[in-house]
Amino acid sequence: MSASERRAGIIGWPVTHSRSPIMHGYWLRKYAIAGSYERIPIAPENFSIEFRALHDHGFVGANVTIPHKQAAMACCDELDPLAKRLGAVNTVVIKDGCFYGSNTDGFGFMENLRLGVPDWKPQSGPAVIIGAGGAARAVAAVLNDTGVKEIHLFNRTRARADQVATDLGGAIIPGDWARLNASLGSCALLVNCSSLGMTGQPPLEISLQSLPLSAFVSDLVYTPLCTPLLAAAHARGNPTIDGLGMLLHQARPGFAAWFGIMPEVDDALRNLLLADIEKAEGR
Ligand code: NAP
Repeated sequence: MSASERRAGIIGWPVTHSRSPIMHGYWLRKYAIAGSYERIPIAPENFSIEFRALHDHGFVGANVTIPHKQAAMACCDELDPLAKRLGAVNTVVIKDGCFYGSNTDGFGFMENLRLGVPDWKPQSGPAVIIGAGGAARAVAAVLNDTGVKEIHLFNRTRARADQVATDLGGAIIPGDWARLNASLGSCALLVNCSSLGMTGQPPLEISLQSLPLSAFVSDLVYTPLCTPLLAAAHARGNPTIDGLGMLLHQARPGFAAWFGIMPEVDDALRNLLLADIEKAEGR
């Protein structure tokens, strides 16, 4: 199939608010590829049939978002080892009728970190992760695989933090939510992977008092782009990295697999996304 006939898209329910079409549409234009990237709304009750029918409709793959990341995993023929470990698929490649599922969130996080704060190294010291949902699992796994020796994970619901450590093992150490502030004294990388601080969600209650000034602070939340956590960290002099870069970078492997070019994240694309976020925030 030539690139001009290729269809890809984002599967979700609902899928109206996804920003993926903006990113992939930009890259299709930038690289002059005549393929398409579409919104693919699939209701949960129809998931397996409509998902498998994508091949008949000429789709070479898709991204998968809420609430289908686990269902997509069950409906794929093959999974990459990371998706299997995380228990969630966000990118599907369809080739010769075979559905191959992967998870690119960890890649997106690490690329954003690598390019945004090149001084950070796995050897820099312990990481502290807030949250134990899908995003936290991806970040914990990639930090573990990159060689971070201590990854402290704090979540409101302690049992979910324990489950992440059980599933991913390695350097992940679950802790009590009440111990979060006390854990920051030796932290070299602090990552908020919870939805706290997001527009419409409760704030993240945290004291950065004991956090070393050399610690890198990252927030996966990107609405608002400058979260209260990033603002507080920046104000006291910590290097910060926002969540938009992860969103942009996690999209790249899918585009490369479907359309044959590993796309770049450039300022024009970031500005497109920023404009869309600001519009959604009513600014
Ligand atoms: P998720 O699976 O629903 O997990 C949500 C997490 O937030 C859980 O750990 C949950 O704790 C915690 N949380 C929610 N409300 C809380 C509250 N009131 N107090 C304390 N903790 C609370 O969601 P996810 O997919 O991991 O996503 C988490 C965030 O990351 C979202 O804001 C999402 O937009 C963002 N994200 C960004 C990117 C990116 O590319 N930048 C990628 C993925 C996700 P409990 O377990 O106790 O409920």
